[in-house]
Amino acid sequence: MVTTEYIIVGAGIAGLSLGIGLHRRGKEFVILERSQLVDGIGAGLGITSNAITAFEHIGMADKVKAVANPLDTLRIVDRKGKLLVNGDPGLIAGYGLTNYALHRSDLHQCLFRELPAERVHTRKQCAGIEERDGWYLLTCEDGSVFRCRYLVGADGLHSFVRRYIFPDSVVRYAGYTCWRAVIDLKEHFPYTSEETWGADGRFGITPLINRQVYWYACINSAKPRDPYYTAFTIDNLRHHFREYHPAVVNALALTGNHRLIQNDIADMKPLPVYHKGHTVLLGDAAHATTPNMGQGACMGVEDAVVLLQELDRASSVAKAMAGFSRRRTERCRFIVATSQKMGRIAQLDNRFLVPVRNFLVRHLPAAIQRRQLAKVLDVSGVL
Ligand SMILES: Cc1cc2nc3c(=O)[nH]c(=O)nc-3n(C[C@H](O)[C@H](O)[C@H](O)COP(=O)(O)OP(=O)(O)OC[C@H]3O[C@@H](n4cnc5c(N)ncnc54)[C@H](O)[C@@H]3O)c2cc1C
Repeated sequence: MVTTEYIIVGAGIAGLSLGIGLHRRGKEFVILERSQLVDGIGAGLGITSNAITAFEHIGMADKVKAVANPLDTLRIVDRKGKLLVNGDPGLIAGYGLTNYALHRSDLHQCLFRELPAERVHTRKQCAGIEERDGWYLLTCEDGSVFRCRYLVGADGLHSFVRRYIFPDSVVRYAGYTCWRAVIDLKEHFPYTSEETWGADGRFGITPLINRQVYWYACINSAKPRDPYYTAFTIDNLRHHFREYHPAVVNALALTGNHRLIQNDIADMKPLPVYHKGHTVLLGDAAHATTPNMGQGACMGVEDAVVLLQELDRASSVAKAMAGFSRRRTERCRFIVATSQKMGRIAQLDNRFLVPVRNFLVRHLPAAIQRRQLAKVLDVSGVL
């Protein structure tokens, strides 16, 4: 049996970020990860400036930026490529920072490399939790047992740790399913970061470094795990989006079936707190959100920083966990609710209402855009 002070379940972006902070503070901990490799999935990720500030707190911002592509703007266009919203680069620059896009695998590896190998135990799927005499006993699927005083659930949307402390927590299907892929460009194609909104679905394109481009496509589906959509190949997607503008058609033309990743989109009904006893939840395990604001992973990095700050200043770990909950719930609830609303607007599929939605979006006052963005990017008072 391995005995340690902290166990983090899950080597995702939230768990690894916390691990780096604990390691820098000389704490005893291990991370248990069910996968064989800590390398994320073959998709891209947007990291906004609030998360870059959070990475600065754990000394990782420069290393993350080194594998990321700076984005000065995000455009929204209609299916024919006509501009609806041109994200104002000045708004982001106003925070003295930039947003970035990167390959998930690069981010995971960059974080993982900061930790001594013995801290991260792969192929350890946590399958049982027991509390005994002030210890948590974690049993993994392979029968190995780990013991700790403090437990962190950073094990994602379907968190095992969350089900242990909050068995009534609810995962909500958002009503649309998503395909993602990263493609290699052989020759230059002038992709900019843009999202296309049409009645047949939403298509996002983001340039990464090394001539790679990340795209995602969201299509409404009445039920999760619909066999009609789970059977979709790249040819089905090409057919589905055939009337969209050339950047979409080209991105799909350059994608092979082996690159496709599909997920139903879901979030969580907000929890009132993220801790119980000496257990705390981080990242998607605590407050999974739909991806419409590109904030899920960013919130996970912020979480890690706030928990570390609370551990630094509180007189006990229980108080630190309670302080963490107090500081995080309102912000994460705002992100989950706003992202859910944005998803409803962006996924509108009524052909009569889409032109009305597009007209309204095109004429959205800059002041509203600025206010929404400030609430996400401005981390003074958050970190
Ligand atoms: C289509 C899509 C696009 C997105 N785009 C963005 C974006 O642009 N920007 C952004 O910030 N966010 C984005 N997100 C959200 C982001 O992916 C998540 O919020 C983020 O990955 C959550 O990180 P995490 O570390 O909390 O959890 P995860 O990344 O889910 O990591 C959890 C880890 O725990 C492990 N695990 C699970 N159960 C166990 C167990 N029982 N025992 C041991 N290990 C276990 C898993 O293998 C995994 O490695 C997107 C999400 C989707 C679906």
